[in-house]
Amino acid sequence: MKTGLLLVGGGLANSLIAHRVLDTQPDVPLLVVERGASLGADHTWSFHDSDLTDEQRRWLRPLTAHRWASHELRFPDRRRSFDDGYNSVTSRRLHDVVSAALGDRVRLETEVAEVTAGGVVLAGGERIEARTVIDGRGDPGGGHLDIGYQKFLGLFIRLSEPHALTGPILMDATVEQTDGYRFVYTLPFSPTEVLIEDTYYADAPDLDRPRLRAGIEAYAERQGWAMAEITGDEAGVLPIVLGGDIDAFWADGPPGVARSGMRGAFFHPTTGYSLPEAVRLADEIAAIPDPAGAPLFELTRRRSAELWRATGYYRLLNRMLFRAADPEQRYRIFERFYGLSDGLIRRFYAGRLHWIDKVRILVGKPPVPIRRALQCLSENREPKKKISPTSGGAT
Ligand SMILES: Cc1cc2nc3c(=O)[nH]c(=O)nc-3n(C[C@H](O)[C@H](O)[C@H](O)COP(=O)(O)OP(=O)(O)OC[C@H]3O[C@@H](n4cnc5c(N)ncnc54)[C@H](O)[C@@H]3O)c2cc1C
Repeated sequence: MKTGLLLVGGGLANSLIAHRVLDTQPDVPLLVVERGASLGADHTWSFHDSDLTDEQRRWLRPLTAHRWASHELRFPDRRRSFDDGYNSVTSRRLHDVVSAALGDRVRLETEVAEVTAGGVVLAGGERIEARTVIDGRGDPGGGHLDIGYQKFLGLFIRLSEPHALTGPILMDATVEQTDGYRFVYTLPFSPTEVLIEDTYYADAPDLDRPRLRAGIEAYAERQGWAMAEITGDEAGVLPIVLGGDIDAFWADGPPGVARSGMRGAFFHPTTGYSLPEAVRLADEIAAIPDPAGAPLFELTRRRSAELWRATGYYRLLNRMLFRAADPEQRYRIFERFYGLSDGLIRRFYAGRLHWIDKVRILVGKPPVPIRRALQCLSENREPKKKISPTSGGAT
């Protein structure tokens, strides 16, 4: 079999590429090969309005299952609400919309065993040749990045009474601080349906599910929310990048193959979130007149290197968070950060900080010991530990 553009893995990044390419160039010959039974597995991906342009939010709208006009943050000494809209794309919606557009151009429950620049070999031995291959099989691991973790367990809960929230609580750090920076994240999907995630910026990737589940139940009870039923769950262990070798990251993998999503290190260093970068990459690929014949390896490799260079400051902040602050004091860095201006906070998450923002984040009395903060300045310092990045999947 032969195709034009072959998207290996039908997760978030490759589904967005397929959606955007078919939106703008319906006749591009392409094929998505995904080992799961549906596109996008079982995830809820969220983003701020200000992470994307108006046009990007417009084309993402069919996939956006929820939108809230505002959200809030809670810390022991600070409570703040933001009028920036917040949105969630669900994998169910992504699957429905993108698979309808793909028609017979998607093969589900199909495991790829080998990827090369000229095509793939499936687990069953079949070979699919392609003019261009994009590897979007998720986080490759490999130990080339020095990382901490954002890890979480979330429960989808039906409440017996309405919760009275007007929007999401992105961080409620008024909870007991254990295992690093801990906060609870709540998305209210309807008056009686919520996703509550117990989240940790931690040094180790292990998830003690029974403990986190108990923490979520205790949190719901403290809010006065009576749980009627747990309807599902999701868990994640996302990489928070402190440093590393992006060239070695790219050298480790099939030569000459373009990459998308986590596979290409297209994610925000401080949140591990990849949706905004995936949207930008989808836009860039869809703008090429013949994406199936374009040098996408060079394009994705260059974009990834540029993103790495542009996000050195974020890795510095991450090192301060993970190396300079005592684990149970990490929340103070976020509490202080959320005292800064709305515009700066928006630009931080959108990855568009101005130089003056960078100065403002660091001036004043830092909530970490100065000597340890100074030791974090060099990215080239011998890393404290090298760990393979991992990303959890929905359970
Ligand atoms: C539970 C969870 C919640 C998250 N929430 C957010 C969020 O709110 N906002 C945000 O921006 N980011 C979020 N992230 C982080 C990140 O955006 C996601 O991990 C995102 O799904 C990464 O997209 P991707 O396309 O790189 O990888 P994935 O979406 O993981 O897709 C990889 C796909 O490749 C397939 N695959 C792998 N190997 C093979 C093979 N050999 N053959 C065929 N198919 C294969 C997999 O089945 C999978 O479908 C979350 C992550 C998790 C785990």
